[in-house]
Amino acid sequence: MIVADSKPLMEIAPLLTGSRRVLVLGCGGCVTVCRSGGLAEARELARRLAHPEFFPDGVPEFRVDAIERQCERDMLEAYLETPPDTDAVLSLACGVGVQMVSDALEPMPVFPALNTTFMGGADEAGLWREKCRGCGDCVLAYTGGICPIARCAKKLLNGPCGGTSNGSCEVDSTQPCAWALIFYRLKKQDKLHLLEEIFPTRDWRPGGGSGPRMRRRAGVAGGPGDFR
Ligand code: SF4
Ligand code: SF4
Repeated sequence: MIVADSKPLMEIAPLLTGSRRVLVLGCGGCVTVCRSGGLAEARELARRLAHPEFFPDGVPEFRVDAIERQCERDMLEAYLETPPDTDAVLSLACGVGVQMVSDALEPMPVFPALNTTFMGGADEAGLWREKCRGCGDCVLAYTGGICPIARCAKKLLNGPCGGTSNGSCEVDSTQPCAWALIFYRLKKQDKLHLLEEIFPTRDWRPGGGSGPRMRRRAGVAGGPGDFR
């Protein structure tokens, strides 16, 4: 899932100066699960923003809504209702959702209320850790299901580095060393021989090194071709 954090109110408020009616739009996807951008957070954000401290020349009228996923064009078209006279949208989606809403409502100004931070999962209640960087060439089969690109501070493919200490990372000792985790996982799997394989120099183009990535799938939404 995508994990995001709230932007400071002092950063958001100036974006809305001059707007009279603002739609504060939550998203029911990842940001609801990580408690940063769902309907409850949208309501709370609107409540906190509606203060003369932020808008000395007049507090905008904030209306709050949410749709299931702002990143889905079909859902935007089916469920997004923009109240009349809306001047701006404050989106609590990830950066993908903000851009999809911007495209759908062009030329309406659509502003981000969150900083999209990482792709991760909750290791325990209330603690999400980064797990994947979308590198486009997954190596988890060789690393015991632990991603060295997202979870090693140096993104080493042939670790550990010389600084690993008692299972902790030298860059941030509060974090586990990813390569220590990989070692112990492979040991449990009786696959330590995999550590003797040297990963070759990586081609980062599948990971976005040659520009924005896209995929076209045949047979989707009535398009030509078969599902494959
Ligand atoms: S190796 Fe690449 S695709 Fe696999 S989890 Fe790590 S970043 Fe994601
Ligand atoms: S200590 Fe481990 S996680 Fe940290 S940079 Fe070195 S190999 Fe990577």
